[in-house]
Amino acid sequence: METIFTKIIKGEIPCYKIAENEKFFAFLDINPLNGGHTLVVPKKHSSYIFDMDDTDLKEMMVFAKKVAKAIEEAIPCKRIGVAVIGLEVPHTHIHLVPLNEENDLNFRKQRPQFSKEEMQKIADDIVATYNKK
Ligand code: 5GP
Repeated sequence: METIFTKIIKGEIPCYKIAENEKFFAFLDINPLNGGHTLVVPKKHSSYIFDMDDTDLKEMMVFAKKVAKAIEEAIPCKRIGVAVIGLEVPHTHIHLVPLNEENDLNFRKQRPQFSKEEMQKIADDIVATYNKK
């Protein structure tokens, strides 16, 4: 099944890429709750996280952990919040959101605006810490 995220993975739609491996891909959310808000997706399409097979689900969490540790090091925050919603895009994804307060994980909050240059700098900083790991 083709989704906006399968197009991002294939490079047909641009994104601020953070990391990838054989099975998973991470990139900045285009409408972030906070600077550094990242989405982790499986390359093999699944629309619902709890329909993934056990091995893929475990491996996706381990990949998300490495991405979260890189975000945590690159972006000043207390910790990385994790959410799974999936009501907008029917392609499994984990939201990784730098948190300073509980409201940073409130999907109805007013979202900060970042220029393309700011988004690129955030991505570059996270990629640099990811590549050190
Ligand atoms: P959910 O499906 O979990 O409710 O939300 C989907 C998330 O994907 C939203 O936070 C939204 O900002 C993000 N999103 C939707 N379309 C795109 C896109 O084309 N590129 C990127 N980077 N993020 C997107």
